[in-house]
Amino acid sequence: MAVGVLALQGSFNEHIAALKRVGVKGVEIRKPEQLQSVNALIIPGGESTSMAKLAEYHNLFPALREFVKIGKPVWGTCAGLIFLADKATGQKIGGQELVGGLNCTVHRNFFGSQLQSFETEISIPEIAAKEGGPPSFRGVFIRAPGILEVGPEVQVLADVPAPPEKYAKSDFDVESLKDNAGSEKKVIVAVKQGNLLATAFHPELTQDTRWHSYFLKMVNEPNKEEASSSTSLSSEDPPKYDLPVYQQG
Ligand code: GLN
Repeated sequence: MAVGVLALQGSFNEHIAALKRVGVKGVEIRKPEQLQSVNALIIPGGESTSMAKLAEYHNLFPALREFVKIGKPVWGTCAGLIFLADKATGQKIGGQELVGGLNCTVHRNFFGSQLQSFETEISIPEIAAKEGGPPSFRGVFIRAPGILEVGPEVQVLADVPAPPEKYAKSDFDVESLKDNAGSEKKVIVAVKQGNLLATAFHPELTQDTRWHSYFLKMVNEPNKEEASSSTSLSSEDPPKYDLPVYQQG
């Protein structure tokens, strides 16, 4: 199996290294025709406006849209999530082209600027049920986007509390987020829709490879997803998840 990693800009090397840790070869993708040689694609984090400009320059958008449309698995992390979203807000003046396909609205720098980057434990019931290991995951958020709204066909895999005071530096009015049935406001940070997976954080910057192996299952077992909720925890010894590769000083 060959998994392509869009290698225009951003953390593509880190994804290739993470794929290697789960025994899969990652192939750098820079040209439209290279997409024909891979079964799946990861669109990494980076800077979505720059990445979009480079993708436009290399005439990649039509091929990327086709890849999504024919049902090949695609995982977008951070800027990659913005790429996959049908709608993005908070973009730079002039906006940026999107690949689209993922029925959601993303706010580009929901969690603020580089200075507001942070790490936090997030609850990942679906991933833990399929991949074993602890029920939470160390989320590394770097100038991270947030998912404001999703369509009915989108499965929410993780969300985080969004108390307005915590995101005071965000250019998004967090007060305007919908309350979840009267409880605290939450912002969605990981979703799945058919062949598409998207995370606002960076699993490739941690040693925990469960998101990568979850994505590989989407490649190997594309039709098994509906059975997921009944999957029990793996009886094998869960691998050790230790420190993230990326650590704030
Ligand atoms: N918010 C950034 C953007 O607009 C993405 C940040 C990231 O990928 N780490 O591109």
